[in-house]
Amino acid sequence: MCRIYQEYWNNLRKRKQSFWVMGNEITKKVPIIYPSEPEPLMDALPREIRIANKIVEEANYFIFNGKKKVRKIPFLSQLLPKSKMPKEENTSGQLFLTIDPEWILRCSDRMYTSWQSCFAPDGCYHFSAKEYTTSINIAMAMITNSDMTKIIGRKFVFIPSDGYDGTRKAIVFFAKHYGTFPIHYQRSLSAYIAESIFGSNKDNWKIISKEDDCRAEEDKIYVVDVSNVGNASFISGGGKSIWFDDSLFVLRKKGTEIENAIISFDSEESDEEDSNEVECDHCGDYFDADEMYNVYYNNNCDYNLICGSCLDDIAVMDEFTGNYIYLDEAVEFWHVNSRGVASHTRYTTEECASFNLTEIHLIGGIRNDNELWEDDLLYADGVPNSCIEYNGEYVCVDIEDTDDSAIMELIKELEGEDDDEDEEESEEVVTEALEEQRTTDS
Ligand SMILES: [Zn+2]
Repeated sequence: MCRIYQEYWNNLRKRKQSFWVMGNEITKKVPIIYPSEPEPLMDALPREIRIANKIVEEANYFIFNGKKKVRKIPFLSQLLPKSKMPKEENTSGQLFLTIDPEWILRCSDRMYTSWQSCFAPDGCYHFSAKEYTTSINIAMAMITNSDMTKIIGRKFVFIPSDGYDGTRKAIVFFAKHYGTFPIHYQRSLSAYIAESIFGSNKDNWKIISKEDDCRAEEDKIYVVDVSNVGNASFISGGGKSIWFDDSLFVLRKKGTEIENAIISFDSEESDEEDSNEVECDHCGDYFDADEMYNVYYNNNCDYNLICGSCLDDIAVMDEFTGNYIYLDEAVEFWHVNSRGVASHTRYTTEECASFNLTEIHLIGGIRNDNELWEDDLLYADGVPNSCIEYNGEYVCVDIEDTDDSAIMELIKELEGEDDDEDEEESEEVVTEALEEQRTTDS
């Protein structure tokens, strides 16, 4: 199972085990408590024969006009070509109820089944099968061969939750089956659910089959934004519809009103090929692993995976290693040319800065006609666009800042000037200092 659905399952597992009363298990064997029953075969009789006679079915027999009794299968085989013969619904397979996502994803997988449906791994609605694994309300009933290498028949089972408190609603939908699912298996499954899941006497429950107009029952179920379960679709957070087959049987507790019942899904993911998807450490969304960026921290020792849309907000490129690093941990610096003009802001880590950069002090207010050593790399706590060297220290300024007092303060500090010096004298000192600098550099 791909990682994203694995995560949904990891979050859901305990609650779903409890909802389906499975203890620590995720697949429960269901005992077959009813004897095998012959399938109703009336519909297989040619129409003319049904019209011309009064026929009832009794076990393996048709009874014509209250007297003539014939075995159903041999009689039909006389009348019908082989291709029209009803399929026998007999099996000795084992019945299970499972919430195991792996089994649910195999519901129409040709490796396990003899049928194909749009829920198959390469089917157009495989997404639905994946979404079923994220719903607390959906389990799968399946009949397997003795070593569980083949699914002989399966049907999805839906128990809605109460929209307010999440408890089970006393109604169970059984979607139409694929493969073989004999009626005594269905009855055994219904009894198991009534007794083991609802802890109720099975006699207090009734089964409504499709012939008994179970669609009317279905219409009382609210499935998120859709008002019935059978044949409905549900739009997930990812914008994809989820397919529901018709329910052929509905089991409900006698004398209960069903209101405010929901079937919900946790997933908000899309139907993309997502086996390679990973979570962005910043926004928490999932993306293809190939589209993720490593953003380093702890001096390039560790990194997080960040998506392309978060990258610009939180990360910058380290000038020295070429790695992305977190902006809020990065040291800003500038490359300053021989005219003292700083280029665009660059970034690196604290460690790289201490090895590669000369620390400077950023102050405000000076013209940009000062010379500097070419290719000096500087760093500071603001954006300078002009720098000078003074007494071995670099001084970088923002020429947009017209307030001269800051550089005066620095010069005073470097020369140990008295704070009481007046403004005029300070300016002279600065001018002299800069003049001297130009002379020594040339
Ligand atoms: Zn992101």
